[in-house]
Amino acid sequence: MKQIKGKILKGRQIRNFIWLLSLLLLFFAFVQSGSAAVRKKNTSEPLIRVKLGKLHKKVEVAFVNNGHVKNSRGRRIRTIRGKSKFSWQLPSSKRRSVQYNNQTMTFEGNGNLFVFNGKKYRGKLVVKFTKSGALVVNHVGIEDYLRGVVGSEMGSLSPAESLKAQTIIARTYAYSNRGKHGRDGADVCDSTHCQVYKGVSSERDTINKAVDGTRGIIMISEGKPIETLYHATCGGMTSDNDKVFGGAPRSYLRRVLCPFCRNGSKYRWAKTLNLHELKAGLAKEKIHFNRLYDLGYESPGLMDRVAKVIFLTDKGEISIKGTTFRRLFNLNSTTFTLGNRNSVKNLISSAVEVPAKSRKEPQTNVAGKQHRTILAGIGNAASDGPPQLIIQTAKGLKRVTRPEEGWKTIACGLILAQPEKKEIATKPAPRATKPAAKSDSNGLVEKIEIFGRGFGHQVGLCQSGAIELGKRNWSYRQILPFYYSNVALRQLDY
Ligand SMILES: [Zn+2]
Ligand SMILES: [Zn+2]
Repeated sequence: MKQIKGKILKGRQIRNFIWLLSLLLLFFAFVQSGSAAVRKKNTSEPLIRVKLGKLHKKVEVAFVNNGHVKNSRGRRIRTIRGKSKFSWQLPSSKRRSVQYNNQTMTFEGNGNLFVFNGKKYRGKLVVKFTKSGALVVNHVGIEDYLRGVVGSEMGSLSPAESLKAQTIIARTYAYSNRGKHGRDGADVCDSTHCQVYKGVSSERDTINKAVDGTRGIIMISEGKPIETLYHATCGGMTSDNDKVFGGAPRSYLRRVLCPFCRNGSKYRWAKTLNLHELKAGLAKEKIHFNRLYDLGYESPGLMDRVAKVIFLTDKGEISIKGTTFRRLFNLNSTTFTLGNRNSVKNLISSAVEVPAKSRKEPQTNVAGKQHRTILAGIGNAASDGPPQLIIQTAKGLKRVTRPEEGWKTIACGLILAQPEKKEIATKPAPRATKPAAKSDSNGLVEKIEIFGRGFGHQVGLCQSGAIELGKRNWSYRQILPFYYSNVALRQLDY
């Protein structure tokens, strides 16, 4: 009996032991998976190849904790310790032979760190020496790459959730642009052409937290990483990608109302051009004239995207694209109005804060054309509110008409009414009541006033708006879908 009991006990002990062991294992598995979401996993992250600068005339590589150099066959050819350096220079005379010509070398440091021409980077460095200079590519883990990117795209003191949104944008960009610099054996470059990357020098605690807190997360639409366009300030409304850059419309780059960027830079702006500056700018496009009678522009509404600017001159009617006009005169955006300073300025300032009682539809005449502007304000707009509103829904923008009982307004912003027929004056305006430009006594234009909104191309995420939303405790899961329609977040497994 005793023996049997003992045996039973032993069996129970073993079962208990196995039970305890599996519980412990489960616990460790849980702890590991739990920490994976917030902390760096041990699984190695995918590498990205970043081309550093253009062709270099000088290469100097040093290490923080010693390192070595490998040849193209992967054999160690040199060890570099302490303060010693690897140095190479392109000869000043073309007749002198180039050291290591057409050879590729890889530099690897302990602690995954190296110093190239005085700047510290993570990962390893691959250098190809040629007669025209050294081609330098940093092979680095994608998450380490992001630590050196996000701070250049958004201030590191921005709210944590805004930084996370910006990190996901940068990560998605890196994924959707792999191989962009394939000819140079790289994926991306380190300049504004791709994303500005400065290595360890631009890493900050807040940015590292944003990178770790969103590890592996990218934005996708229809199963693919999206084109993550963003800009500084939209000025109240973003733009459809096709209207700005041409090409096919992207379902996730649709116009969105953004009443959050009022504190952003260039939310509203003004600029004056005199005739001399105008002529000098247009001359760059080989456009010449002596006299300017009038000018007009093609736009769906007041302070909306300008498709064309038209000049009525002694050499006939000349028109240029709004984007060209922006580039020539270094304007902050392509959403502007050419007008009389007082009329437009009053309208712009009243559009920012509308007293409850004056919430009406102002009629305004800019550059001889009628634009209806609708202002929506916070509060209980009664029946005198706008007859139509543009509402942002999950499926994009929707135009709705005022219900009989009136609007219940919960958001606020400047909304442009139904686009009027695109009309532009085809002949000099007959002494327009509110001319687009200031004329002299002969009716010739001597200067033009430009009033605009926003800073940048205005497609995709509005950074000033995203920062404001972060301050209002929106999470990155709310901020990103606000600016990008029809997107999902996907966490890559590494
Ligand atoms: Zn590039
Ligand atoms: Zn905005």
